[in-house]
Amino acid sequence: MTTIAAISTPNTTGSVAMIRISGDDAFVIAGKVFHSEQIPVDEMQGYTAAYGNIQDGDSVIDDGVLLIFRAPKSYTGENVAELTCHGGVYVARRVLQACINAGAKLAEPGEFTKRAVLNGKMTLTQAESVIDVINSMSEQYLTCSNAQKSGALHRKINEIADKILSVSAHISAWLDYPEEGLDSFETSSHIGQLTDCRLGLSLLLKSYEIAAVMREGIVTAIVGKPNAGKSTLMNLLTGKQRSIVTDIPGTTRDIVEQTVHINGAVLRLCDCAGIRDTDDAVEQIGIDYMYRQIEESSLIIAVFDNARPLEKDDYDLIERIHGKKSICVINKCDLDSSYDFALLPAKFNHVVRLCAKDDSGEEKQKLVNVIGKVCDINALDLSAGFLANERQRNCVIEAEGLLSQAVTLIESGHSPLDATGFLLENALDALYRLSGKSASAEIIDDVFRNFCVGK
Ligand code: GDP
Repeated sequence: MTTIAAISTPNTTGSVAMIRISGDDAFVIAGKVFHSEQIPVDEMQGYTAAYGNIQDGDSVIDDGVLLIFRAPKSYTGENVAELTCHGGVYVARRVLQACINAGAKLAEPGEFTKRAVLNGKMTLTQAESVIDVINSMSEQYLTCSNAQKSGALHRKINEIADKILSVSAHISAWLDYPEEGLDSFETSSHIGQLTDCRLGLSLLLKSYEIAAVMREGIVTAIVGKPNAGKSTLMNLLTGKQRSIVTDIPGTTRDIVEQTVHINGAVLRLCDCAGIRDTDDAVEQIGIDYMYRQIEESSLIIAVFDNARPLEKDDYDLIERIHGKKSICVINKCDLDSSYDFALLPAKFNHVVRLCAKDDSGEEKQKLVNVIGKVCDINALDLSAGFLANERQRNCVIEAEGLLSQAVTLIESGHSPLDATGFLLENALDALYRLSGKSASAEIIDDVFRNFCVGK
């Protein structure tokens, strides 16, 4: 393989930058650009480092550290040299240029990880999880992505594929010796095994949705009539004074967005303008935004004022969010009230009574508990493997559909077994494409197109 090089650290000023070189000639190239008084590069053992000058020809660019990994004990499975220099954008580029002048080729996006896959250092799904680890925004997603990087999804897919394979092998054997016949016990055993596989695949499809929520955050709109306490609630959840709180109705005209981490999940909170009939053109634009925000949000927190009776604006709001995942908050419970809110538990599955103004922590916890329940953040153990992208999801949808057809055929009792066998083989192919066992060059190229250069 050609020897490639790239800057593996971000393209910005930092304390250090790292230039990675991988391939058969990695040490020859490193030897041309790195000069240490301690030891020549070709004598360095794997997992050792040396300090020296980094040069382009005779001109010294910087001083730095060289780290050596000898094949196959490296990230890519090839000889790898990692040069660490001072973290200026220009100096890092000059070191890279020196490596290229010394014979390296500029790496494509994700080419180091692609080589790791091609050299058997990791599976395709493990490689895909590298992106998830890099992009993790919460502790929970990081933990799951690390489990994935250790092969959780790969193992899960193999487990399901092995079961399909065993049914498929049995059917093939029967096709070779049809006089043996399949008895009803074997038929129901096949149906049982394939149904188990379908269940496993359905859980994986569900895991995709939960992972997306964890990765991208739950878009949450805080809505209600003016002065119900929406901004105060937003500030309570975020622990910051971002939204303006006043008792003048119509203060929040635009949508204020904040991200909070709740029970390991990410909530993207939007504090909207209050719903009310208004002649103020600017306020009306804010209200229209809010209606759109309700449509686009996965979760609605509807705030009602304990010290005011339910009014037309409240009823309008209840109608508008009907059928959406929502939590009803009856706010200002520190104030006396003789109003009847019996309608709210009838309209909402989750009702929380609180005082958003009280920042002792107790009130926030009440709401956090309900949010955790409603969003089902812990419904599935993603560390047992999850679908992290569209490619993986499409393979599972395809396999699940084919298994469903195969089960229907077997249940019908009179269709040819070779048709069932054909469906099972295609289902297996979809799963092998997912795991990378039978992924074409185009699939592999497509996966790594989304990577950054240097990874
Ligand atoms: P918004 O228009 O819905 O965003 O309402 P704000 O958050 O701006 O609050 C309106 C007024 O209600 C402000 O004066 C807040 O201090 C007050 N307020 C908010 N929450 C509570 C609460 O739980 N109890 C009491 N007594 N007042 C509150």
